Amino acid sequence: MKLDVLSISAHPDDTELTCGGTVIKMADAGYKVGLLDLTAGESGTRGNAPLRERESRRASKIMRVVHRENLYLPDAGIEDLREYKLKIAQKIRDLRPRTVILPYWEGRHPDHYLTGRIGYEACFYAGLRRLPLQGKPHRPHKIIYSSLYVPSVRPTFVVDITAQFEKKLKAVLAYSSQFSPRQDLQNLFPARADLRERLASLARHFGLMIGVRYGEPFVTREVARVDDIVEMPVRSI
Ligand SMILES: [Zn+2]
Repeated sequence: MKLDVLSISAHPDDTELTCGGTVIKMADAGYKVGLLDLTAGESGTRGNAPLRERESRRASKIMRVVHRENLYLPDAGIEDLREYKLKIAQKIRDLRPRTVILPYWEGRHPDHYLTGRIGYEACFYAGLRRLPLQGKPHRPHKIIYSSLYVPSVRPTFVVDITAQFEKKLKAVLAYSSQFSPRQDLQNLFPARADLRERLASLARHFGLMIGVRYGEPFVTREVARVDDIVEMPVRSI
């Protein structure tokens, strides 16, 4: 397998929520996109692991990703462990992605920011020859961080997902166990109408930054190299 893009996330539905529009856009452009979920989300307040797995298969179909798998690390138990980093690094060697999407390295939920941190180290490990890993060393060409869960962070760039927004919503709603209305949990999990409004207003917020309707934010650690300042894709005034 040689993927163009691999999105690594803590729970099934994280990729859909934070960068689903971008994943759909890349898949529609003909790139091979894969997803790696580190946990099955079994500690969540709603649903259960087998149900969420069925839901994630449905969402993958909607997004047209070519590969999705789960590492079954403990939900709400992602830690900075060498064992976990080697497991992720092995998948990076197997899947050989050119671009890796990780969750932003800070935030409220430890699983999310720890996935960003150990995911980065796993990308590095995957390229080291002498580690106990199968297959040829591979280091992704590029790592980008999806920062939608931390909206106060100023993105390095925003992807225009105006044309993909409805499909993204459909992929998110495939997780019906997470988003169907239930009175007692309303503060925790938004019902469908509310979810649409939340996703739309976030996407609108980031879309406005680049002068489009809907967008998804990303952060890079590296400074971007530019060879042509005339064709540089920045927002016009
Ligand atoms: Zn999550």
